[in-house]
Amino acid sequence: MWQIQDPEIRKATLDFSSSGQSEVTISQLYSSEIQLINAIELVDWDIDEGQLLVCEACGFVGCKSGDWVSLRFADPLILITPAFISYTDSDEARREYSPPWYIRTRGIPYFELETYELLRTQNVSFPSVSNIRKLSMKEAVLTFQWEAPYQVFDRAPKPVIYQGDLIIAASEGEPSEIIRAIEEYASANISNEQKVSLHSLGNSEQVVSLYLDTPGFLEWRAVAFSDNGLKLILDSKHMIVSEQTI
Ligand SMILES: [Zn+2]
Repeated sequence: MWQIQDPEIRKATLDFSSSGQSEVTISQLYSSEIQLINAIELVDWDIDEGQLLVCEACGFVGCKSGDWVSLRFADPLILITPAFISYTDSDEARREYSPPWYIRTRGIPYFELETYELLRTQNVSFPSVSNIRKLSMKEAVLTFQWEAPYQVFDRAPKPVIYQGDLIIAASEGEPSEIIRAIEEYASANISNEQKVSLHSLGNSEQVVSLYLDTPGFLEWRAVAFSDNGLKLILDSKHMIVSEQTI
């Protein structure tokens, strides 16, 4: 995952004349020269899954294939995830609903709450946080899988099952036991629609890192154990917690 830092809204003109419309002036969202949204005013924010990069010949959501995402709130972050529901539906759907290049190659971006609220003051098209759908446990598991380094647990629509032989050590216990615990947790929660939030790791959790046999001997802070069992970790610092257990 990567944090959207110093996002910038730029005005641009799209020429829709080839589709019988006129030129329109719209706003585009950039972060470090990555274009995240190409027409903020044309995004259909109310739907479960949508395109943040719409067809530049007509502006209609769904005209072109690919670049589908879901906007999700997992307190205190707002995530731009792949459109997991459609993307995992079938092979054909996977081509139609593939995520934008910046998710495929760099991972899932997210806004800190303050960053997002600041953007809303600059463009009223962004929905209020209370109108953004909350991340479900199922989606959180798929996000964890998507973000695992070197795709060691594969990626949706494949099940969360360890691939390869890169994990060679764990900070606590046997790596094979931690791997099995992750697979079992994912399997038990892959249909779990409960909403989740993200908690900072504290002193009451024991973080377990997995070590990968990669250049630099990568340390991956993968899971935490607390009084009520295993929790998956996102971005090394956020623990996924079902809101029903709070
Ligand atoms: Zn079009």
